[in-house]
Order: sequence, then structure tokens, then C-alpha cells
Amino acid sequence: MAALLDYLYPPRCLLCHAPGARLCRDCADGMPRLAAARCVQCAHPLAGSAAGRCGRCQRHPPAFDYTAAAFAYGAPLDIAVQQWKYAGRLAWAAPLAEGWLSAWDEPPARPEALIPVPLHWRRLLRRGFNQAGLLAQHWGRACRIPVLHHQARRRRHTPQQAQLAVAERRQNVSGAFAVKPLRVRHVAIVDDVMTTGSTAHALAAALRQAGAERVDLWVLARAVDR
Ligand SMILES: [Zn+2]
Ligand SMILES: [Zn+2]
Repeated sequence: MAALLDYLYPPRCLLCHAPGARLCRDCADGMPRLAAARCVQCAHPLAGSAAGRCGRCQRHPPAFDYTAAAFAYGAPLDIAVQQWKYAGRLAWAAPLAEGWLSAWDEPPARPEALIPVPLHWRRLLRRGFNQAGLLAQHWGRACRIPVLHHQARRRRHTPQQAQLAVAERRQNVSGAFAVKPLRVRHVAIVDDVMTTGSTAHALAAALRQAGAERVDLWVLARAVDR
């Protein structure tokens, strides 16, 4: 069925409208990459060719152990993510998920389960989908890792992180997640964009309380100006 639809309506690049694929080779190559030297814990670029953890992770260690981020959050990826999340262009989910999958020479360590960052039900109702859940679905299928969609939930409706100053973000999300007891030890949180990491930190802390021993973070993109 999909093949017939592709024949009748050949896909076009969602960014530049060139025929052929949802994300053409030129636009895929233009996606902003993270520097090779980055913090092992939060993926923030490190000065020079330093290895190890960034100053911020050393001062305030996050509750997650490792971040697998494929891209830096900048043009044209930010346009794609905004069209996807805020304008409901669901066609973006697959090419973005596939872009992440093909970004690795060495694939990230394999967790026993993927846990998408949950939306509060009120935001889910308004948006109609959870972008993190869609990414987890794609990655889980491609890597044959189970996705636990209902393991974690938001206890309360928190203000959009994007509207808050960095210092307010950890406070905003602290205690925001409730997690059911885990039967696995190594999990990866899935999210679309990581900014300061305070949401992931709050969820990772809750996952540890629920029994996780190792918590990774799989994100499409990492914002680097903080
Ligand atoms: Zn294109
Ligand atoms: Zn770091």
C-alpha cells in the first residue's frame, strides 16, 4: 500500500520540496552535527579536544549516565522539529527518527527498554501525539528494544520549559514524574530535544527510585547555547 502511494504521489523533501524522499540527501547532510569532543554524560560540546565530563555535569551531576544525541539543535533541524511538534506535521517523525539511527558509526549501548518522556494528559490532548513516544516507537522497532509507554507519567502540568530561565527549570520539573516499579535495570529515556537536561534529570531520578541502575538518554538533538 505504501509502495503504491509512493508511486502515485512520489514523496517530496519536507524542507526543500525536492522529489525523492521525505528528507533529501542535501537537507540531511545539512543537519547540524554536534562536535566530536563532547561531554560523555550530557553531550554538550567540550572546549578543544578535551574528554570526559563538562564543568556543569561535574558541579551538578545529572541522574542520567550517558546521552546519545545525534544532532545539534539548530537550523534546519529546529524548523523540522517545530513543524512536527507545534504544527502537527506528523510526516516528520519517520525521517527524523531515521536520521538519528543513521548518525552512528558505533551504535549507543543497548538498553533493556526505552522510556519516552511522557506529556501531561492535558498537553497530549491538545497536541494529539507525544513526539517522544513516536521516536521511541521508531527506535524500538529498528533496534528491537521494548518501549514502555506507560511506565512513567507526569504528576502535574508544568509550565513549558522553553519559557523558563535555566535556574527555574530543575525546580519546575522536580518531582514531576511518577514511575511504576521497573523490572529492568538499564533503560534509556527518549526525548526529541534536550536543552538543559533538567527534564531528563527529573525523570532519570524517578527511574532510579523505581529500580533502574543505569539510565541513558536518547535524544534527537542537543541545544548547545546555554
Ligand atoms: Zn531537501
Ligand atoms: Zn555534561
